[in-house]
Amino acid sequence: MGELRRDPIVDRLVIIAEERGRRPKEFVRPRSRERVEKCPFCPGNEWMTPPAHLVYLKGKEGVVKVEEGERAEDWLVRCFDNLYPALKPEEHGHHEVIVESPVHDEHIQRARLGQVRLVIEAYIDRVRELYRKDYVKYVLLFRNYGLEAGASLSHAHSQLIATPLIPRAVREEVEAFEDGCPFCRLIEDERRGGRVFYESEGFVALCPYASRAPFEFWILPKRHSPSITDMSGEEVDGFAKTLRETLGAMAELLGDPPYNYWIHIAPKGLDFHWHVEVLPKTSIWAGFELGSGIYINAMPPESASRLMREATRRAHRTS
Ligand SMILES: [Zn+2]
Ligand SMILES: [Zn+2]
Ligand SMILES: [Zn+2]
Repeated sequence: MGELRRDPIVDRLVIIAEERGRRPKEFVRPRSRERVEKCPFCPGNEWMTPPAHLVYLKGKEGVVKVEEGERAEDWLVRCFDNLYPALKPEEHGHHEVIVESPVHDEHIQRARLGQVRLVIEAYIDRVRELYRKDYVKYVLLFRNYGLEAGASLSHAHSQLIATPLIPRAVREEVEAFEDGCPFCRLIEDERRGGRVFYESEGFVALCPYASRAPFEFWILPKRHSPSITDMSGEEVDGFAKTLRETLGAMAELLGDPPYNYWIHIAPKGLDFHWHVEVLPKTSIWAGFELGSGIYINAMPPESASRLMREATRRAHRTS
């Protein structure tokens, strides 16, 4: 018998219908093989992409940030317009690619910590820049990993889409702020309730009560904070470590599954509590889910959280 759950923040229903006896790796289907071609994101192939809005270069005394950079080959992070944008600037939107590393396969779940930190800095720089434009109402940062999660290129990269309106998923969360911050409340409740599987000085990671899929998890700053642009240098370090360790644990536990994550930040001028939502490809959403907006999840988040806690500890010991 399934258990119907409603997300405490937005109007989202989930049916938890546990399938017992399935090991974590059995929730992920075998990966289809990626085509190996000349990679447009690898160093030396910069001519294959539009010129960059932002490049981090190796300087003698640390990282140098260059806007509208030349197509230098000794970059650390590169950010440019998507060649096949979902929204074009003339339609008052932007669709950008953030190449996270010159190393083709340096995905966040196994990246060097310093590199993860640079990726987060690039996120922050791009949000700041795009929020200066009047017509931009929102910037959604997201990462698709693996073909099954929508990544058409296997080089480590994130994307952002800047929109002239606030997406519904964010609007619904904003509406829940009427009597105080629902995420501050959530963190307090979850730390007592036991779905938190990772906690550092500044951040928690938890499997939400109404998880849409097995091993869904969220990362939240403990301090009430509207956007990633509000982070101190220390908090950026803490976030890099949290992102790396939790994604690393998920990769170890599920056998490097395809996944999506996105970062919800405050729309311009509104209060919010920023967070990351991570969804590994552990479910197939079909007619029922798409037609009803109700998700069926075969793994109670309480069990997922316990397994993630163990995996995080294992990953911590070996790193
Ligand atoms: Zn590459
Ligand atoms: Zn809050
Ligand atoms: Zn959210």
